Amino acid sequence: MVPFFNLTKQYNTIKSEIDEATARVMKKGCFILGPEVAAFEKEFSEYIDTKYAIGVGSGTEALHIALLALSIGTGDEVITVPNTAVATVAAIELTGAHAVLCDVRADSLTIDANKLASAITRRTRAIIPVHLFGQSADLDPILELARKHKLFVVEDCAQAHGATYQGKRVGTYGDSAIFSFYPTKNLGAYGDGGAIVTNNAQLAKRMYLIRQYGWSERYTSHIKGINSRLDELQAAILRAKLRHLDEWNEARRKWAALYTKLLHTVTPPREMPYGKAVYHLYVIQSPRRDQLASHMKACGIATAIHYPVPIHLQPAYANLGYRVGDFPVADKLAGDILSLPLYPELSLDEVRVVASAVNGFA
Ligand SMILES: *Cc1c(COP(=O)(O)O)cnc(C)c1O
Repeated sequence: MVPFFNLTKQYNTIKSEIDEATARVMKKGCFILGPEVAAFEKEFSEYIDTKYAIGVGSGTEALHIALLALSIGTGDEVITVPNTAVATVAAIELTGAHAVLCDVRADSLTIDANKLASAITRRTRAIIPVHLFGQSADLDPILELARKHKLFVVEDCAQAHGATYQGKRVGTYGDSAIFSFYPTKNLGAYGDGGAIVTNNAQLAKRMYLIRQYGWSERYTSHIKGINSRLDELQAAILRAKLRHLDEWNEARRKWAALYTKLLHTVTPPREMPYGKAVYHLYVIQSPRRDQLASHMKACGIATAIHYPVPIHLQPAYANLGYRVGDFPVADKLAGDILSLPLYPELSLDEVRVVASAVNGFA
């Protein structure tokens, strides 16, 4: 049996650090926006290399707040991709703005800058490139288009903590960027959590206010806000885990490279030359995906599909007005992709077992 992820195994490797961190919080008795959140925000901003990091309740809320801080709302359009977590589009639509979708490249599976210009209208305010499966989108042409049309860029880094583009970490290129600390992400809490990063002091200030009722001090709301706070327990846990992130990402890269070397009957993921991917997921493609998935299940190996229904075919977002065939690359991917187990704590044996099960599918 190879499970799709194994968070207990990871906890056991860092048990003393996690237990010390949670005990510290319980002993202090401060649970919301205290010293652990402030320290994590500083450490995470240093890790990504931005001036500010703002800890919030989830990746979805991080994106919602990032867009609100840019005053994006009703009447505006925000461009993103159809093959992403529904959260990306949920956050756009929560502001009252509309999501406009742009197809992805067949090699990187990230936004196709060549198709971006035709998605821009006079209502467009921002572009959200999604660094899918741990690999950066090709940011240079996106940033250039954004400058030309005076659009904001908000990077969705929810699957790409530590990934690089042209030698710098993703999250440092846009006007702001968001991260999720959902437990299975490359940097995961033991509950929900998220962060927004930016170098813009004014934007950061608005984000701090929006995450807590628009307060800069109790009890005066300077702007309209929400409640989306990272809590002290999660922050203390994330501080302990952040120290391991680079070593975990390296382990993910090592297992991904081994899969790619061993697999010879399916299309492996392609690492683009412009950056270093951190393999949040290892996603292969096969024209007989469903049969392959059943075969893997019969071999005792868990697989998953990220994502079986692209955004433009989600019932909740029928309002966007798209149909099957509007995004040929994303449509094809939805039928072909399969995620194999990939996490730092896999063993060499497990990787071999998974690869030979894939190879054994005839
Ligand atoms: C996980 C994820 C999110 C949302 O994060 P939550 O913390 O679950 O709200 C947003 N975008 C992408 C690409 C994700 O993978």
